[in-house]
Amino acid sequence: MIRGITAGAAALLLSACASVQSVPSSPPPPSLDAVETALARDITTLSADDFGGRFPGSEGEGKTRRWLIERYSEIGLQPGMGEGDWTQDFTLVRRAPASEPGASSATITRGTRSISLSPGLVAVQPGEDDGHLADVPIVGLDPDLKELQPRSLVNRALALPASSLFKLFPQFEAAGPKVLLIMTVDEEEYRKTAPLISRGRWRLDSDSSGPAILLLTPQDSERLMDVVGQNAFRHPDGLGVIAYDTILQASIVQQVDRIETANVIGRMPGKVPGAGAVMVLAHWDHLGDACGPTDAKDRLCNGAVDNASGLAVMTEAVKIALRDGPLDRDVIVLATSSEELGLLGAKAFVADPPVPLPTIAAAFNLDTMAIAPRGTPVVVLGAGKTQLDYGISEVARVQGREVVPSDMQDAFLPRQDGWILLRDGVPTVLVSSALADTGAFESFMQGPYHHANDDTAAGLELGGAAQDTLLHADLLRYFGNLTTYPGSGE
Ligand SMILES: [Zn+2]
Repeated sequence: MIRGITAGAAALLLSACASVQSVPSSPPPPSLDAVETALARDITTLSADDFGGRFPGSEGEGKTRRWLIERYSEIGLQPGMGEGDWTQDFTLVRRAPASEPGASSATITRGTRSISLSPGLVAVQPGEDDGHLADVPIVGLDPDLKELQPRSLVNRALALPASSLFKLFPQFEAAGPKVLLIMTVDEEEYRKTAPLISRGRWRLDSDSSGPAILLLTPQDSERLMDVVGQNAFRHPDGLGVIAYDTILQASIVQQVDRIETANVIGRMPGKVPGAGAVMVLAHWDHLGDACGPTDAKDRLCNGAVDNASGLAVMTEAVKIALRDGPLDRDVIVLATSSEELGLLGAKAFVADPPVPLPTIAAAFNLDTMAIAPRGTPVVVLGAGKTQLDYGISEVARVQGREVVPSDMQDAFLPRQDGWILLRDGVPTVLVSSALADTGAFESFMQGPYHHANDDTAAGLELGGAAQDTLLHADLLRYFGNLTTYPGSGE
């Protein structure tokens, strides 16, 4: 705390000196009108029909990548992965149950008694395309259990009713079961739960975390409980787990899809070696051509606001920030892929970052920017979670922007790429007028958000986005220069 105040006071003094020195040599930033024109041009290009909704692995990805690399080059950035390499390549995988019923099979054994589950079994397993589960002990939860202990389910198959699945889901991660055996009470519950498992979900190829999931028909659920019978007893270590003295074997056959995609990264080396980096990021991907019912005339998810606007603000802000050359720190410009599929590009970045994460002094995510008119205050998503708040309020004050608190932080902080960086210790915020105009934001979320009409047909509000562009240009300069921001105080 004291360190924070000291660093803040020092920064304040230094910033006064710095502004006196740097004013004569800095060309002025462009006018708001000029910025709006640039944003409109870029958003129109990136959300045009021929970009196909920018789905990872599609032709639209190729076009988006070329656009980004061309723009990065114009700004004077270097390839961010080094040695001429602009892209951080990674593979996504989606595993779903094989479509033929009965493709996967499972047997449950206690002593000499053994049952085979019916073809209604729905099974998926992370980490492997086709999997075998051998001799996994089946356990249940003590009805008096308050909280699952971390790692209490490692190498076990937890049998539990579908009704308690979502209630307990966050606890399962830490408990680490090898398998979830989901039991259903009737056809309706089985039919409602099956699609949630059948559709699978995209994840990084390198991510094999989480349990295999086996959904049982109501008949098989009854047979399982019949085999377990009266044999259940409380585990002596008091972990809240009931051992059933019952063993699971399974053979899981899956339908597997893969996508090759990439983050696009540029870098402007700083003037001071070893001073670390500042970063700005925005996701380039969107939902492809899957918006609206299959018989709709326009199903193309153009993603003008989400997130062509973020890319436009990012590239324009970097250009303005670097208008008189490099900063003290490196500037890293990261266009992430696969945000819409679960913040996967950001996860790929932190899994294998081109620079050590602790050297990133500040990072600014830009998502869904073109919503509010000129004169709107800004919200800092991530306020109170980094040491950036003081500097942000200083830069905003100098630009005549008001920083207001948001009641949307809890809802939206974990739903954006910045969260993945913040979770891994990178001071990351999302500074935006869009979230400050709650009326305009709500009507976007209820309207064009993730629909075919998130396009430029009805015109876009770019006033707030243009002001946010100039704000981010100065945020990069403030946090990218040692005179204004010597460090995090650590
Ligand atoms: Zn989105």
